[in-house]
Amino acid sequence: MTISFDQVSKVFADGTIALDNLRLEFNQGEFIVLLGPSGSGKTTACRILAGLEQATSGSVSIDGRDITKLPPRERNMSMVFQNYALYSHKTVFENIAYPLRVRKIATGQIDEKVREIAQLLQIDAFLNRRPSQLSGGQAQRVAVARALVWNPDICLMDEPLSNLDAILRLQTRTELKRLHGDLGHTFVFVTHDQEEAMTLGTRIAVLNEGKLVQFDTPKRVYHEPATRFVAEFIGRPAMNIIDGEIEAGIFHAGGFEISVPQQPDGPVAMGIRPEQIVLRDRATDDTIEFELDVIELVEPDTLLFVKNNEAALVVRVLREVGQLERGSVVHLELPRENRHFFEALNGRRRI
Ligand code: ADP
Ligand code: MG
Repeated sequence: MTISFDQVSKVFADGTIALDNLRLEFNQGEFIVLLGPSGSGKTTACRILAGLEQATSGSVSIDGRDITKLPPRERNMSMVFQNYALYSHKTVFENIAYPLRVRKIATGQIDEKVREIAQLLQIDAFLNRRPSQLSGGQAQRVAVARALVWNPDICLMDEPLSNLDAILRLQTRTELKRLHGDLGHTFVFVTHDQEEAMTLGTRIAVLNEGKLVQFDTPKRVYHEPATRFVAEFIGRPAMNIIDGEIEAGIFHAGGFEISVPQQPDGPVAMGIRPEQIVLRDRATDDTIEFELDVIELVEPDTLLFVKNNEAALVVRVLREVGQLERGSVVHLELPRENRHFFEALNGRRRI
């Protein structure tokens, strides 16, 4: 099964362009994450796929069959929202059983299916409770169980973990990943949290201002960001970006200089991830001197905030930094293979 968005745009009545020419194609069994800041069009894309919203132009299809106008009921998709919206007067069992009853499944089978999915999500001990007697995490798992119990073609989840506290969010994240591994369902998962996206997605669609900026595996999104926006959005602390200019193989940025052979001249932004900068004990041909400004401990790592003229960097060091203190000179290597270059004009990655 292949699901495609073909040049889908959505303009709301007030003129807001929520989606701009979205093209996206993925396959059965994938865990697709729609990632982007608030307002980037993630929910709109999800709702168009579910049939809850109509595209202004373009089409959505499954295996080449146009489903753009198909009502939600006929799409074989289920949705889990941030505010999981369980039926408060029904037991957990009946909440999970609901989609099966609507589909007129035989009672014996309903019992079996509900217990099976409840066990998988570790909520089988609460089947007789009402939603008000559950913790937030348990309630969210009931919502997930209800979405999966009838074996939909696609399960859409719009920020399902954002109402949970930090620890529960991590646990539920791991459970979702295990569930995906066990059941092989097709998930479309919306989040603004880059870490959630990186850990869950088989592929991540990064959206910004209604446009798809990159659709790739987590590894490639991280190591080969297509634009400066993706580079800065993915990874914490964010990738260091220095705005400057290349002239005859030298990158200049307000007094900071580094040799960048093979890079064409022109205005450019150079990026390097904090953990991919190497701290050396002494100066070598490959190091540049920086002045240490601030040290932050984020056990077990250390963050060094350093500067060299106008250029400021954050360095993530995976070890003790010994005698270093504010004002110390540090010798940093910015390995060539770890540098990224983006066009100053449009933020696109330079080849
Ligand atoms: P996200 O889920 O990424 O936060 P949305 O898809 O909800 O983004 O929204 C994308 C853009 O469309 C935002 O600018 C939002 O304000 C706007 N938008 C969403 N729904 C409506 C609506 N019903 N009417 C007008 N604008 C809307
Ligand atoms: Mg949203």
